[in-house]
Amino acid sequence: MLPGRKGSASALFWAWRLQSQSTQPCDNRGSQRPVPGARPFLRLLLGLLLLILAGAVAAQVSDESFVGERPAGALPGNVLTVAPHQDRLNLNRHIAFLLDPDGSRTFRDVLASDQWRAHPENEVLNFGFTDETVWLETLVRLPADGVKEWLLVIPYALLEQVEVYLLDMASNQPLYQVTGESARAATAGTATYYQSFALPNTLEGPVRILVRAESTTSLQVPLEIWSQDYLVQRQVMETLYWGLYFGFLLALIAYNSFLFSSVRDVAYLYYVMYLASIGVVMFSISGLGNMYLGQFSDFIPRYTLPVGTGFASLWALLFARSFLHWQGFPAKLDRTMGLAALCALALVGYAWFEPALGAQLSGWMGAIAVSLVIVAGVSAWRGGVVIARYFVMAWAAFALGTLLYLLNIFGLIPVSRITNYAIQVGSALDAVLLSFALAHRIKEERRQKLAAMRQRHAAEQEMKQLHLQTLEQAMHDPATRMPNDSLLIARLQELVQPEPESEPVASRPFALVLLYFPQVREIASSLGRGLAESLFRRLVRDFNQLLIADGRTLCIEARSRAYLAVTEFASVAFIHEVSDDEAPPLRASIEQMLAHFETAVDIGNVAVNLDVFCGIAQHPEHGDRADLLLQHAGSARDVGLRRGERVVLYNPEMDAFGRRRLVLMGALSRAIREGELELYMQPQLDCDSLRLVGAEILLRWRSPKHGAVPTEEFIEIAESAGLMNHLTRYVVREAMVVLSSLNKSGLRLSLSINLSVQNLIEPDFVDYILETARHYQIDLQDIVLEVTETSLIEKIGTVINNLERLAAAGCSIALDDFGTGYSSLAYLSRLPITELKIDRSFIVQMSESLSDFRIVENTVKLARTLSMQTVAEGVEDSAMLDTVVQLGCTRVQGYYVGKPMPADQFYDWALRKVS
Ligand code: C2E
Ligand code: CA
Ligand code: CA
Repeated sequence: MLPGRKGSASALFWAWRLQSQSTQPCDNRGSQRPVPGARPFLRLLLGLLLLILAGAVAAQVSDESFVGERPAGALPGNVLTVAPHQDRLNLNRHIAFLLDPDGSRTFRDVLASDQWRAHPENEVLNFGFTDETVWLETLVRLPADGVKEWLLVIPYALLEQVEVYLLDMASNQPLYQVTGESARAATAGTATYYQSFALPNTLEGPVRILVRAESTTSLQVPLEIWSQDYLVQRQVMETLYWGLYFGFLLALIAYNSFLFSSVRDVAYLYYVMYLASIGVVMFSISGLGNMYLGQFSDFIPRYTLPVGTGFASLWALLFARSFLHWQGFPAKLDRTMGLAALCALALVGYAWFEPALGAQLSGWMGAIAVSLVIVAGVSAWRGGVVIARYFVMAWAAFALGTLLYLLNIFGLIPVSRITNYAIQVGSALDAVLLSFALAHRIKEERRQKLAAMRQRHAAEQEMKQLHLQTLEQAMHDPATRMPNDSLLIARLQELVQPEPESEPVASRPFALVLLYFPQVREIASSLGRGLAESLFRRLVRDFNQLLIADGRTLCIEARSRAYLAVTEFASVAFIHEVSDDEAPPLRASIEQMLAHFETAVDIGNVAVNLDVFCGIAQHPEHGDRADLLLQHAGSARDVGLRRGERVVLYNPEMDAFGRRRLVLMGALSRAIREGELELYMQPQLDCDSLRLVGAEILLRWRSPKHGAVPTEEFIEIAESAGLMNHLTRYVVREAMVVLSSLNKSGLRLSLSINLSVQNLIEPDFVDYILETARHYQIDLQDIVLEVTETSLIEKIGTVINNLERLAAAGCSIALDDFGTGYSSLAYLSRLPITELKIDRSFIVQMSESLSDFRIVENTVKLARTLSMQTVAEGVEDSAMLDTVVQLGCTRVQGYYVGKPMPADQFYDWALRKVS
C-alpha cells in the first residue's frame, strides 16, 4: 500500500467532499420543510471548513519551507549534506525503502537485497495499516564541527519498534546502532513525543543510516534530522499544545462531573466518560502514551488506541441517545444506536486480544458511531429539538477532524500539519460545542420547566376558580342567588357547635324560622314559572331588607349580606336571635314580621293576599343538630299548612303526628284495595220544594287498626301519597252502584262526587267515568263532579279539556268551597261550571257578619247571571235554611237537612223522605 500522490489536492478534495455531504440534507430534500436556523448553521460549518482548508494550504506551504536541497541523482550514492545553520532537515525524499513481510531480516540481509525501492517524493512514507516491517535507507553527511548535537527523529507516535543503524559508507560497518532493548531505552531516556536517536557529533564524512520500523496500527515513517535546540524548542511547543489540550479536557471533565453530581442527569455522565475516552485516544495518538507509559511496558500503548476508540464510540452513542431523547425520536434509529453501542463494547473486549485488528475495527466503529450520532442529531433538529443545533455542529467538527486524520492514517492523504492536528482540533471543538449543547439544554429545560410551571399555575388558578364557582353554585339558590339549605345548615352548624374562637353570639339560643308561600308554587303551575320566580325574588329581596333592619336576625352570609336562605322554591328560612328576656315573646315577634306579607301583591294584574305558613324550631330545646332543627321547623310548618295556622312552634308531638301520617299512608293504600273505605251520603234538598233532589258522597274510613281517621286527614294523605286515582275510581264505581240501585227503587237523585286535581290531569280518568256509567247504565245527567279552585291551578289546559269532555257527556260541574280561594272570575268564564257551592264558613257566619251575608247574596246573583245553580253548604239550623231559601239558592245541604250517613241508611232515609 503505497501512499497516494495527490498531495494537498487530495486534502482539498476530501474537505470539499465533506462539505458537500454536510450540506446535502438541505439540498436534496427540497420537498421537506427547511429547518429554521439550518442555513446559518450550514454557513457556520462552511466557514469552519474553509478555515481548516486555509490552514491546510498554509501548512503545506510552510512544510515546503524546511525541505533540504535535493542533490542530483538518486539513492544510493547521493548524500544529503546537513548545513551547520540548519535545524531541521526532512529526509523523506532522500530515502529508499524495503519491505520485510515477516520482519526476520537483519541489516546485513537487507543491505545485500536488490528489492530496494526509491521514494522520490517529498511525502512521509505511509503504508497505512500493515503488519509488515519496513527498512529505510538514507545517506547523510553531518557537519563535523561538533558545535551542534544532531538527532534522527521520527515525528510519528504510533510506531512500536524502531531500530537505527549508522554504517560506514564504504565498509558498511556499524558505527552506531540502537536496537532491541536499547532502542526503547533510548526513546524513553530522552522522553520526547517522538522516537529520536542522538547521532554522534564526531562523524567524519557521509554515513549510511538504516532504520527498521514496525507498527501494530498505521505504519508511517517520517524521517527527519533535528538539531538538539530544535528538538527542545519543538518539545516545549508540543508540551504547551498538549498541556492546553489535556488541561482543557480535564476542565470539561471536572465541570461536567460536577454537573452530573448536582443535576443527576445521566447524559452528563456519558459525556464525561466520552471525554475521558477521547483523552485516552489522544494520549495515545500524541505520543504521550509512548513517552510515559512506554517506560513501564511497551504493550500498554498498543491497547490505549483501540480500547480508547471503542469506549469513545460507546459513550458517544449513549450520550447522544440520552441527550437527544425526545418524543419523536425514531425508534429504529434509537435501536440502531443501542446496537452500535453494544458492538463498540464488544470491540473493546476484542481489541484486548487482537489489538492490531481491533485498532482498525474500532476506527471503523468510530466512523459508524459518529455518522449515527450526526444522523440522530440532524433528525432531532428537524424534529424541532432546538438543543440539537450545537450537538450537530460539535459532531460535524469532530467528524471532519477525524476523517482527515483517518484518511491520513489509512494512507489515503499525505501527512501534513493539518492531518497531524486535525483530530486534536476536531475533538477540542467537539468537546467545547457539546458543552455548549449541554449548557443550552439546561437553559432549554429551565425554560420548558418554567413554561410548564406557569401553565400548571394557570391551570390551578382556573381549577380554583371553577371550584369556587361550583362551591358558590352548590351553596346558593339559582333563582334568587341567596344562600341555599346547604349554606344554612353550615351556618347552623357553626351556631350549634361554636368553634372556640368564634363570635360569642354563637352560643346564644336562637330560633330557626321556616316560611312557605304556597301561592308562589300555585302561580308557577298556573301562570308560569317565570312570573312565580320574579315574584319570589321580589319577596326574598324585600324580606331580606326587613330582616337586616330588624336587628334580631343572624346573618347567614356576610359577603352578600344575606339574612335569609332559600331552602327550596317558595320556602325561605332565617335565624332569629332569642334573648332570655324576650319581649315580645318569640311567636308574637314572628307574627309581627309576617305582617309584612299582609299587603296584597299584584300578580298578573290580580291583587293577591299572600298566604305564608311558618314553622319554628328553637335551639337548644328542639334540637342540638342543624339538620334536626331544619327538620323540626319543617314539620311545624307542614302542620301549620295542614291546619291552616300561620305560625306553628315545633313540639315533639309533631313527630308522632308525622309518624302516624307515614303509617296511615301505608294503611290507606291497602284500605282502598280492600274496600275498607265507606261511602257516606249527605242529602241535598231543592230550596223551592224542599224535596230530596240529590246527595254528596263523602268518604269515611274506620280502620280496624287506627280507628276512625278524619276524612280531611286521609284525603290529604291520599293526595300527597298520589293515591287519589285509586281512591276516586273506587268512589265513582261505588257511587254508581248505589245510584243504580236507587234508580231501580224508583228514586231519581243526582249524586255529587268530590274530585281531586290529580284526577283531572290523569289521562284516562274521564274514560273511566264514561265507561263505568255505561256499565251501570247511569245517566250522566245525574252525576255532579265537585272541583275546588285550588285543584284547577295545575295544568289548566288539561283540566279544562277533561272538564269539557265530562260536561259534554252530560255531567254537571260544581265549584266547591266557593269564596275561599283567590276566586277569579276569569276561571268561571273559562270552565264549564254549572254550579257554585257556597262555602260553609259564609253560611254559618251569615247571620252575624254582614259581609258574609253579602258574599252569599252576591254569589247567588252572580250564579244567576251566569245561569249557574247555587248550593248552600253547612246549613245547620232553620234560620240559615230560611235565609238561603230567601236569597234564592237552588239547593241546600247541611246537618239541619241531614248528616252524612252510610249508603244503606241513606237509602231508608230517602225512601222515608219521598213518601
Ligand atoms: P266538602 O266537600 O266541603 O264536604 C263537606 C264537608 O262538610 C263534609 O266533611 C261534611 O261532613 C261537612 N258538613 C256537611 N254539612 C255540615 C254542617 O251542617 N255543619 C258542619 N260543621 N259540617 C258539615 P267531611 O265529610 O269530613 O269531608 C271533608 C272534606 O273531605 C270534604 O269537604 C271533601 O273536600 C273531602 N272529601 C270527602 N270525601 C271525599 C271524596 O270521596 N273524594 C274527595 N276528593 N274528597 C272528599
Ligand atoms: Ca264537596
Ligand atoms: Ca264544600
